[in-house]
Amino acid sequence: MKIYEMTDEQRIKLLLDGGYIDQKQAELLRSRQTISTDLADSLSENQIGSFSLPYGFATDFLVDGQDYLVPMVIEEPSVVAAASNAAKRIKNSGGFKTYPTSRIVYGQIVLENVTVEEIAKLEQNDSEIFAFAQQAHPSLIKRGGGIVSLKFNHYDQFEEIELGIDTVDAMGANMVNTILEKTSQKLATMISGDVLCSILSNSGQGQIITVEANVEYNQLATKTMSGEEVAQRIVKLADFAKKSVKRAITHNKGIMNGIDAVLIATGNDFRAQEAAAHSFAFESGQYQPFTEWHLADGKLVGTLKMPIELGSVGGAIKAMPMAQLSLAMMKIQNSQQLQSVVGAVGLANNLSALRALVTTGIQAGHMGLQSKSLAIAAGAIGPEIEQVAKKLNQTKNYTLQNAENILMELRG
Ligand code: NDP
Repeated sequence: MKIYEMTDEQRIKLLLDGGYIDQKQAELLRSRQTISTDLADSLSENQIGSFSLPYGFATDFLVDGQDYLVPMVIEEPSVVAAASNAAKRIKNSGGFKTYPTSRIVYGQIVLENVTVEEIAKLEQNDSEIFAFAQQAHPSLIKRGGGIVSLKFNHYDQFEEIELGIDTVDAMGANMVNTILEKTSQKLATMISGDVLCSILSNSGQGQIITVEANVEYNQLATKTMSGEEVAQRIVKLADFAKKSVKRAITHNKGIMNGIDAVLIATGNDFRAQEAAAHSFAFESGQYQPFTEWHLADGKLVGTLKMPIELGSVGGAIKAMPMAQLSLAMMKIQNSQQLQSVVGAVGLANNLSALRALVTTGIQAGHMGLQSKSLAIAAGAIGPEIEQVAKKLNQTKNYTLQNAENILMELRG
């Protein structure tokens, strides 16, 4: 039986039998009560409940030679299906290869009204400042991370001290802020001016990853189009996104569909990722797509390059049982591994979107899946949902009015 044909209980059993989750985690899923009042109280303010979104998993991700089931939290129909669909085409072509670079988070200490002489003194004492910052979070050094760079930047009346910090497996926002604040106290004793603020940057420039997939033409064919023709059309549409900002934005939104869904499932700060991703897209001065597609050696070659800001520890990740379950499902050992999987999901969602757009159009698959939401919006309950959705798919008239008419007819 195909996974999408299973019941939720059958899928939970599949994860349990496959050793992806343990008994306790299976019970957590079955309970559908995934966050306690105490936890909600500790994570956010004025809480009065929890807000649920569908939690599922994408299949067939072969990333750097390792197979993954990838947990995703998303309310938009077709994103999980699209990720799985493209992942299978890529798996049949050899899988994803990833090239992470570094895990550096940059932080800024902003000084104001510092004299030229004081700036010169700070610059002369850069190794002392570096050593002080290094000692501000000693456990990071023990884990193999710590300060890797210190730079002075001048902006009119502002003087900025920029620290590059390897936060190892943590996303690092709190760690970096702690280091910056301690360091700024030291700096305050060395200047007559003010420390205006100390805060990390979400630029993500130290966390850029490249993901590549070589897709065989035979994996792309449709009933009416050869794989090679589909590949050529994908390349053309991807090129168009480099020229049209309006298209590039939607191209990237499709990539973020998958990326955000995994970040939410793993308890990561997806707002940080959004900020990093879109500033990177604008780096050249013209908003650009995160992916590039071309033909080489009889294959469609796709490359995703973008910052991916995340952690496999820290923040709310440890506290949230569902985040722990997600990491367990993927058997994540460190943040780079998670970065690679997340990047692969972004590239997979992009391939699915491009393939659909240049062949049948996006609505064929999208509305087929959207039909259940439409049935529920029309008031269908229980088995009626499937019956109304089926009729909607037959008529291909995906309007609320049509769903309501079908439901009325069904109820006699
Ligand atoms: P934490 O403050 O939780 O710090 C990471 C923790 O993980 C530390 O306690 C560290 O232990 C521990 N740890 C265990 N193993 C490792 C390892 N292998 N590598 C690194 N650390 C390890 O989280 P972050 O600093 O990552 O901050 C993330 C949070 O900050 C998110 O919730 C985010 O929403 C929030 N935030 C985001 C901001 C932004 O993006 N602009 C601003 C402010 C907050 P030890 O201390 O012993 O080293």
